[in-house]
Amino acid sequence: MKKIGVLTSGGDAPGMNAAVRAVVRAGISAGAEVYAIYEGYQGMVDGADWIRRMVWQDVGGILYKGGTIIGTARCDDFRERHGRLRAAKNLLLHGIDNLVVIGGDGSLTGANIFRQEWSSLLDELVEKGEISYELAQVHRELTIVGLIGSIDNDMWGTDISIGADTALRRITDAVDAISSTAASHQRSFVVEVMGRRCGYLALMSAIATGADWVLIPEAPPNLDEWENKMCSVLKNGRENGRRDSIVIVAEGAQDRHGNEISCGYVKQVLEDRLQEDARVTILGHVQRGGSPSAFDRNLSTLMGAAAVDAIVSDQFVGEAVLIGLKGNKITHDSLEECLHKTKEVGEAIKRCDFARAMELRGRGFQEAFQTVRTLVRAIPHDPEPGQKQRRIAVINGGAPAPGMNTAVRAAVRLGLDKGHVMLGINNGFSGFAAGEIQEFNWMSVNGWAYLGGSELGTNRHIPANSDFYKIARNIEEHNIEGLIIIGGWSAYISALELYQRRNNYPAFNIPIVCFPATIDNDLPGAELSVGADSALNSIIDSVDKIKQSAVASRRVFVVEVMGERCGYLALMGALGSGAERVYLHEEGMRLTDLAKDVESLVNGFKGGKRLGVIIRSEGANDTYTTDFMCALLEEEGGDYFTSRKAVLGHMQQGGNPTPFDRILATRLATKCIGFMEEEIGKPEQTSACIGLQSGSFTFTEFHDMARLMDMENRRPKQQWWMQLRPIARMMANGHQSHDVE
Ligand code: ADP
Repeated sequence: MKKIGVLTSGGDAPGMNAAVRAVVRAGISAGAEVYAIYEGYQGMVDGADWIRRMVWQDVGGILYKGGTIIGTARCDDFRERHGRLRAAKNLLLHGIDNLVVIGGDGSLTGANIFRQEWSSLLDELVEKGEISYELAQVHRELTIVGLIGSIDNDMWGTDISIGADTALRRITDAVDAISSTAASHQRSFVVEVMGRRCGYLALMSAIATGADWVLIPEAPPNLDEWENKMCSVLKNGRENGRRDSIVIVAEGAQDRHGNEISCGYVKQVLEDRLQEDARVTILGHVQRGGSPSAFDRNLSTLMGAAAVDAIVSDQFVGEAVLIGLKGNKITHDSLEECLHKTKEVGEAIKRCDFARAMELRGRGFQEAFQTVRTLVRAIPHDPEPGQKQRRIAVINGGAPAPGMNTAVRAAVRLGLDKGHVMLGINNGFSGFAAGEIQEFNWMSVNGWAYLGGSELGTNRHIPANSDFYKIARNIEEHNIEGLIIIGGWSAYISALELYQRRNNYPAFNIPIVCFPATIDNDLPGAELSVGADSALNSIIDSVDKIKQSAVASRRVFVVEVMGERCGYLALMGALGSGAERVYLHEEGMRLTDLAKDVESLVNGFKGGKRLGVIIRSEGANDTYTTDFMCALLEEEGGDYFTSRKAVLGHMQQGGNPTPFDRILATRLATKCIGFMEEEIGKPEQTSACIGLQSGSFTFTEFHDMARLMDMENRRPKQQWWMQLRPIARMMANGHQSHDVE
């Protein structure tokens, strides 16, 4: 029987609760005993009641809570050997020799030292007569699994840490709000964001909010001239019609000599040189607080389950591993190596070796920095001599998705900056046929970074009949050399329609790139489409509220989410909200399943259960509709519960995009412009769809793309997230999950 201890330590981070819940539930499901160690290492050092065995229900209803319900602390005792000696004894008293530590690099450093010393700690305890020799022999190996719980995202070994996405949301919400007041008064704001010596939050929030300037520790500005440069960008922006100016300063920002750049200093510079009224906002602890985002809940759940897996599989006995996420894959790396690399970044910054610091942060970080440098310009670069000017058009198609505007803005500005002419096609493919085409300038997309919906206009129209001729004429008339189609399924089909007619209409012989933007996440060649994260967060926020109302009145809710026949939103929504059951078209729906669910709900309510949530993908089954399910539950619930439906509807498509979607949109747009520059003018021009696959941006050519599509069900034939179904089931139902599948 495995015994696993789980603790949260150091600075708290939203999502820690979801991780604890996952460790407890996955552990119990795997037949292990799981102990929560309260108040971080302090609880381990103090023992007694601070170490408690957890049962399934102990971690119920905590997914949506910020912070950590098992407490966290900084513990000086654990920094000393005598403290760790007591901690070792307390673990042994419970027979625990597996630890899941959720914390930042400090906490994980402590864990690593603890494991290195473990054997000698046991010897000392035996020598002192505090434990028996036999007990020590049984627990010779301590296994450590680390999860990075830190809003700073400053650790090597994962693309993203638990809490960073939520912190980014807090920051972007605040900066969006500040922008509107800044615009009203034509003011400048200097906003300080957290991150210690890591510029991740500052950099990503600058991309997400369309800030004017950003200062991060890894890439300090040039001495003597940065103040002038910053002021000239802000001044140019004003002259071009911008009403607000936002400068984002990372908490560890410094100049090339390592001297701190404070918000106060930046404010002074703006006031002195621009005679501007500048204000400082230090966001502080609001960045840490509040309910975790959908991404953080799901990340923590997957990481927690992976931690238990690493332990019960006996793959890492006596080792210390770090669970990370790269692309959409869970990874296991040596904790020691990750800590070493993390330290190296800090040291490089300290000795002002910024090139090395940037290199260690990785390619994604470097690319983000380059993108931000281009996007923050108030006016485009002068074209380089000999640079070819291209005419590139951008169109939206399909249903609106949050992030479409962000994508258009980024494509337009990056294109203009490279000296190209950027054209906007209004109202989708019907607008294309009608010739609704205009030329963009730099300021025509100002303020689009955070705007939901589609300013260009979008619809589901797929070109047919005379449309082709008209579109071909418009391509020729406007001399369009490349086309970026930002949209969902019907936009992709429209692209294929043009492509298939390129022999009849030579105008269609231009490079076309399809850019995934739909809340449904049902597109080929892309693991994630822009808009899906925003929709998922809307779903989770709603289900949190629905749950509160259900508890109050002993109810079962059937929540219907969008996605047509693609169950992505339903499954991820269930995982992030802790729904007990999810119905997807991909899995089918049988009457016997419904009967089983009804029975288990009735039994649950008989045993004191107070609420039930079932999530149903809108296209799950044409006969067993949401109304049908609701009526069935109402009838069968008898005196135990009533049933209601909640059809979330179009609010899932609306709202401003989350930072995740804004950043993804911006990165994709950068690649699309690169693709156009490469393809336009080639003798054999390629058309492709772009997407993130296993952490890299890839282009899938149209003929391959068509083969990946399940045309009847309007979704990709392979969907990576289907492999997460067992985890969703396990988290909801535990032991019962073993008899499903
Ligand atoms: P974070 O984990 O968020 O980086 P800290 O650096 O404050 O936060 O570390 C949290 C706790 O981890 C510390 O209070 C201490 O108990 C433990 N810890 C940190 N560094 C070490 C170390 N070098 N040796 C032993 N324990 C450590």
